[in-house]
Amino acid sequence: MEPAWWFVFREDDLLIEPQSSQAKVPCLLDVAELKLPILGEHYIGRLGGRHCYAVDVNIGTTAPETMTFEGLRQIYGLIDEDLFRVAGRAAQIIHWDRTHQYCCRCGAKTKSHYTERARECPQCGLLHFPRLDPAIIVLVERGSEMLLARSRRFSAPVYSVLAGFVEPGETLEEAVIREVYEETGIGVKDIRYFRSQSWPFPHSLMIGFTATYASGQITRGDEENLDAGWFTADNLPSLPSKMSIARKLIVWFLEKHGKVDPSGSKSN
Ligand SMILES: [Zn+2]
Repeated sequence: MEPAWWFVFREDDLLIEPQSSQAKVPCLLDVAELKLPILGEHYIGRLGGRHCYAVDVNIGTTAPETMTFEGLRQIYGLIDEDLFRVAGRAAQIIHWDRTHQYCCRCGAKTKSHYTERARECPQCGLLHFPRLDPAIIVLVERGSEMLLARSRRFSAPVYSVLAGFVEPGETLEEAVIREVYEETGIGVKDIRYFRSQSWPFPHSLMIGFTATYASGQITRGDEENLDAGWFTADNLPSLPSKMSIARKLIVWFLEKHGKVDPSGSKSN
């Protein structure tokens, strides 16, 4: 038997071993070696030939000696990028499992399905699959300017590209047009797919686009945004985290105009 990666979560915090250069996720034959009060365990696939498991532990759990529980956002850049991606998957599986212990139709206790990753209701048969919330995120360009807004959701004074959840019945393109208009009063055209990013806070899929200004004036101060404006590559506000697709869209724009990210990030 080979050691496996164990992604152990206490609430939203992941168990890591901080090391001088890079933190590590425990790599063990069996998580039982850590003697933790385990609530649930899920197989989540392989990484570099090793099996990976997500483990949910009791809220009062103390980290073993030499280890610590840290929030996913805090450990970005501290652990290997591949491990971070799997940690995001593990976090979402655990969050889904915790929040689907009872059937949302009839209230009966659910159980694990024997072949699918689903929780099944033994009373009414309803299957509960892991939840994923699609959200669009879009960088709007107007010549040498890009449209950024400061959101009430951010505690720091950070300006970012616009984003919002896709509504039932909507295409991704319709969501882009609606979100940009609702948040800023701007109309857009030439909507192009950029790339996507899993965003495990708690279970989003961010689908990135670029778009071109078509019409309108910025109307400020709606419910979501404190302030929106047009920014050039030479006139940058505080930008969102390097881990975000928002930052990658902004870096893409900067590179297109012959500039680089002030902190050295690349768009790919
Ligand atoms: Zn049911």
